[in-house]
Amino acid sequence: MKLFRSDLIQGLDHRLFEIPVEEIESDEIAFTGTTIPLFIHSTKQPDGYQLHLEGTIPYLLVCDRCLEEYTWNHPLTFDLRLTSNQTLMQSQEEDLLFFPETMLEVDLTPAVRDYLLLEVPMKKLCRESCKGICPGCGINLNQNSCRCEASTQPSPWDVLQQLTNGDH
Ligand SMILES: [Zn+2]
Ligand SMILES: [Zn+2]
Repeated sequence: MKLFRSDLIQGLDHRLFEIPVEEIESDEIAFTGTTIPLFIHSTKQPDGYQLHLEGTIPYLLVCDRCLEEYTWNHPLTFDLRLTSNQTLMQSQEEDLLFFPETMLEVDLTPAVRDYLLLEVPMKKLCRESCKGICPGCGINLNQNSCRCEASTQPSPWDVLQQLTNGDH
């Protein structure tokens, strides 16, 4: 996803960019649909531009409990700063992108990918009340019920057996 200097000179006023999901997707992150919508607002600064990005990101996640895919629409805002100041670049601040006067365009994809990755939740649940998978028969308990309900709580004996099995 590239921004052109000509557009920045004119100024971006919450302009909508639709980023193809292939540009961002990796082994660690996936999305529902074909594009990710991001609105970008730019502000001119002495050494470059301040960018404000916002959008509702359609994350495609896999539920920890039932292992089904679900969409998590997550509102996200973050800022990036484009600067031609090399000294500033050495400060290693995270939201800085180098944009020297000679560059006509800048690729935002790596920075956007980093921000989207940071937001992936540690705990993924399709819903708070997700019933998960029956440990007895493997059925998705959100969609079906089964006859092994009595055994969904492991007994002290089961726990002991697992410990013993794991300790050859
Ligand atoms: Zn679930
Ligand atoms: Zn079952």
